[in-house]
Amino acid sequence: MQYLFGCFSEILSNNSFRYSIFVVNNDIILIMASKNISFYRQSNQRRSTMGNFREKLARFMYGRYGADQLYYCLLILNFVLMLINSFLRLAILDITVWAILILMIYRTFSRNIYKRQLENQKFLKVWYPIKSKFSLFFVRVKEIRTNRYRRCTHCKSMLRLPRRTGKHAVTCPRCHKDFDVRVLL
Ligand SMILES: [Zn+2]
Repeated sequence: MQYLFGCFSEILSNNSFRYSIFVVNNDIILIMASKNISFYRQSNQRRSTMGNFREKLARFMYGRYGADQLYYCLLILNFVLMLINSFLRLAILDITVWAILILMIYRTFSRNIYKRQLENQKFLKVWYPIKSKFSLFFVRVKEIRTNRYRRCTHCKSMLRLPRRTGKHAVTCPRCHKDFDVRVLL
């Protein structure tokens, strides 16, 4: 646990379940997260080892929370932290990675689904504004030749304006008030 030598994370998904594999210093930590347990049908399940394993997993995951957006966010966060820590090798980062890992396992296997859903909703409340800001940034870059995005000074709504250099007045389509826009390039 002193340092993380290498790590990789993999998200495999199929119709039945998703799971992630973490490899930390040759210790393999398998984190399984099942979302859809409906595939579990005892009658026409393949009797292979993998089928048996899936069956057991599905039975184990029944009534447990599984994966959500917060889970995947923590997964990516952990992956990034491990990557950073493979260079820095700080004990505090090591502990953080393990704490997040334990939290992820705890949440996935938790039977208190209501509480876990509340946690996820709290996370999404923070995440969605960040996501929309990022996506607006990419749209602005994509449309840099044709459009400019400016906020209306009266109603604060974001307006998509055709690119016209110089200073000119714009009428907001939402509040119908005029305001000046300066476009340098
Ligand atoms: Zn306006």
